[in-house]
Amino acid sequence: FENMLTFHHQMEAVSHIAAGVAHELRNPLSVIKGFLQLAKLTNDHNKYYDTVMTELNRMNGILEDFLSVSRRKMERRWQSPVQIMNSLAEIIKAECLLHDVQFHLQVCETEQLVYVNESMVKQVMLNILRNSVEAFGKSNSNRSLTIETMIENNYYVIEVKDNGKGMPESVLNQLGKPFFTTKSKGTGIGVPLCKKIIEDHGGIFQIQSTYNVGTSVKISLPLEGEKRE
Ligand code: ADP
Ligand code: MG
Repeated sequence: FENMLTFHHQMEAVSHIAAGVAHELRNPLSVIKGFLQLAKLTNDHNKYYDTVMTELNRMNGILEDFLSVSRRKMERRWQSPVQIMNSLAEIIKAECLLHDVQFHLQVCETEQLVYVNESMVKQVMLNILRNSVEAFGKSNSNRSLTIETMIENNYYVIEVKDNGKGMPESVLNQLGKPFFTTKSKGTGIGVPLCKKIIEDHGGIFQIQSTYNVGTSVKISLPLEGEKRE
């Protein structure tokens, strides 16, 4: 009986997720379809290329996030947090340039290592970056993103600060709940996924935000010699 109950809950979770994935992928799919039809009709392929590519990338990101939720094995290696930050910096710089965002980066040097699955840590950072970019209003002409890293209590701490719209109490209260989103095109799995990945690394994931001022996201990863689970 107990097994049946668990099974029932699992199936419920599966159908919830399946519905979520299908729902999220339908939007970019219909955009792609429409733009491909336009490209054919007008014979102007270049004009629609970027949109199709953007939407394909969006679908890819959504699938990546959903896949990670169900991924059981996490292969980890000892790696330099400084190196990870430096390779991320290139992607973030490009993204900021694209979205007209001033980017400031200050990486704290250290010889110590963190025990991580690098692509998952990158996925977390990209989710945080995406949320910051989406938090800048259209009229915000003074967009800034600051990434600062530091060592605190033998954790390598990465802090990402934006001066976007921030979150009111009502949003902060719900933050971290799976599928909670305030966006028409949101999935609501970014924040819970980031939290899960960082905690699976034995780390800490924190968000602070002030409405109309900005948001700060802090990731803390245990440094060499500390707890490794
Ligand atoms: P999604 O981005 O798909 O909505 P997330 O789990 O990534 O889902 O984020 C959940 C919600 O948290 C967002 O809809 C948004 O309201 C809020 N949020 C997250 N990051 C930020 C940020 N940097 N600034 C303002 N609001 C944010
Ligand atoms: Mg998000």
